[in-house]
Amino acid sequence: MREIKHWLDGQAVAGTSGRQLPVWDPATGEQQAYVVAATAAETDAAVASALAAFPAWRAASLSRRAEVMFRFRELVDANRKEIAALVSAEHGKTVADAEGELARGLENIEFATGAPHLLKGGYSEQASTGVDVYSIRQPLGVVAGITPFNFPAMVPMWMFCNALVCGNTFVLKPSEKDPSPALLLADLLRQAGLPDGCFNVVQGDREAVERLLVHPDVQALSFVGSTPIAKAVYEAGTRAGKRVQALGGAKNHMVVLPDADIAAAADAAVSAGYGSAGERCMAVSVVVAVGAVADPLVAAISERIGRIAVGPATDPAAEMGPLITREHRDKVAGYLAEPGTAEVVVDGRDAPVSSGPGFFLGASLVDRVTTDSPLYTDEIFGPVLSVVRADSYDEAVRLVNDNEYGNGTAIFTRDGGAARQFQYDVVCGMVGVNVPVPVPVAYYSFGGWKSSLFGDLHMYGPEGIQFYTRSKVVTSRWPDPATSRVDLGFPKVR
Ligand code: NAD
Repeated sequence: MREIKHWLDGQAVAGTSGRQLPVWDPATGEQQAYVVAATAAETDAAVASALAAFPAWRAASLSRRAEVMFRFRELVDANRKEIAALVSAEHGKTVADAEGELARGLENIEFATGAPHLLKGGYSEQASTGVDVYSIRQPLGVVAGITPFNFPAMVPMWMFCNALVCGNTFVLKPSEKDPSPALLLADLLRQAGLPDGCFNVVQGDREAVERLLVHPDVQALSFVGSTPIAKAVYEAGTRAGKRVQALGGAKNHMVVLPDADIAAAADAAVSAGYGSAGERCMAVSVVVAVGAVADPLVAAISERIGRIAVGPATDPAAEMGPLITREHRDKVAGYLAEPGTAEVVVDGRDAPVSSGPGFFLGASLVDRVTTDSPLYTDEIFGPVLSVVRADSYDEAVRLVNDNEYGNGTAIFTRDGGAARQFQYDVVCGMVGVNVPVPVPVAYYSFGGWKSSLFGDLHMYGPEGIQFYTRSKVVTSRWPDPATSRVDLGFPKVR
């Protein structure tokens, strides 16, 4: 069986702990490889390598760092097919979906090439007589990223592009479920001219993360994953004095007002609910049908579900792939077995593909879900779409705002005034107006509110640059005999 290795000092390195974690092929249900979970000592070695590489990388000129990102962009673009194939092979998502993930990752590289502009400081001439004041942004040092299984290429790129171009060095702990894309990206960074040690990958699980959380040489941690772990990572990391941004789970509501175009809303709900088998933190998992729109909308969604082609990524016709593990598939299917008072309109367990050896589950639709049901309260993270019926706009907004999570939400309407009011009212980090998956472009920042994010700064974009740098303010005077004198008073500017 093939080992997927760590990446240290510019090369792949075998693990030593002997603790093997399986990497499955979700489409066949068979194990295809394994990672050897990093020990604390192996994690320390990755941090030590990044620490040793930091002074020279920090000293590299802005244009040199940006040039590495330009070259990396070209290499990722040239290797799109290979990276997407790796993502599909270990994650199970369709090739088109994996290519979409890469396209969004490329946007983040492109944003990072603008670092010379983004790292400009401010300058105030003559703040006092003969005194100028200016601010500069400096890198933090060694920073770490811990990433989830559902975007094994894009989410690491959300983090390391900005971190590296700001002059930091990086240790990545990718998901142990689909660890290969991180290694390919590491090799492309090397080919792009990134000096060895600036980017290291430790494979593994909790043991490596727990070491990164307390390692004295790690200055900051970016985490993306489920809410309980995000919260624990935020608390442990900040307790250890680190800067932490920890993005968690979601329960994204799509509100459909009575005036919406039903066909367009149904297309959007199906695309956003079942794309990537519902394993997206920005997936729509609840449709809030307001008033009379409910019956025709449920009919339109269930009619479309019948046409979704479920299959392995190797089948070019497949639109939806398997779930990540057998355990996860069974957990998701469990929600359909116990719907309570809700009405299962389409049961994905009945789809022929659900009884094969792969981790497939057909798309499911459950109507008349109530807010006390686990279908509503849990982040299911699978192809199960719940419909909650609401009597009014106010009731719909209350649902969004009372929910524990606040990642994304969307409204479907033809009424500009209602959409504007919704954007004003909702307690949520990312809002779509007739856009079901409102993932911000790379020059804005990504992040939810409430239990969807722990920390102060969102990920990538301008807030990413802020997260990976700290500002320094310099107050400067050049000797001028004409104004020099002894003054024991507190410095004044007037
Ligand atoms: P996860 O929380 O299980 O794992 C995320 C990372 O944490 C992995 O690298 C994993 O190895 C590590 N980890 C797992 N258990 C740990 C522990 N006890 N201590 C320390 N580290 C641990 O998440 P997942 O299943 O890989 O990904 C799916 C989740 O990620 C969903 O909840 C989804 O909503 C969320 N997600 C959120 C965003 C966002 O931007 N908010 C984006 C993508 C995914």
